[in-house]
Amino acid sequence: MKKAIYAGSFDPVTLGHLDIIERASHLVDVLVVAVLENPNKKSLFTVEERKQHLELVTADLPNVEVASFRGLLADFATEIGATVAIRGLRNAIDFASEYQMYLINRKLNHQLETIFLAADEEHLSLSSTNAKEIAVFGGNIDFMVPEQVRPFVVQKYQEMHSV
Ligand code: ADP
Repeated sequence: MKKAIYAGSFDPVTLGHLDIIERASHLVDVLVVAVLENPNKKSLFTVEERKQHLELVTADLPNVEVASFRGLLADFATEIGATVAIRGLRNAIDFASEYQMYLINRKLNHQLETIFLAADEEHLSLSSTNAKEIAVFGGNIDFMVPEQVRPFVVQKYQEMHSV
């Protein structure tokens, strides 16, 4: 059984992430989408909230599981028996950082192979950061964030503005 892991912050999950998830789910038997818990990085949503969003948007993908982890991807992959890491590539900047990460992961875990999926051209400009920068000013994020997750983003900023 081929198990893969797709890790990220997903704060919030974007249509770009979802496209990678859908495409990767067709390549492997089980895809674990894993929220990286990084206590040093300030996030909009808690890890539990981000997991709930991922559960919602992947509900129709039977071989996709949602998890979270702390520490190294290389270690978590071993823990769950994943032999493939999925990464998305939008541009040369992504390539530079993702390639470095690939080299490091290879050193840390020889069993882990990385598969890079090129972003769809529709999603080249999408990032969680961009989505948050638009949403904070009440802008339209319909083309950035999956429909099921948009209300949570809008609500979060409404709560923050009402404090
Ligand atoms: P982090 O910020 O923790 O690196 P992200 O959640 O932004 O994580 O990204 C996780 C993975 O998804 C990375 O491989 C990244 O290149 C990829 N990714 C992010 N946005 C997109 C997008 N719009 N299209 C395709 N891949 C993407």
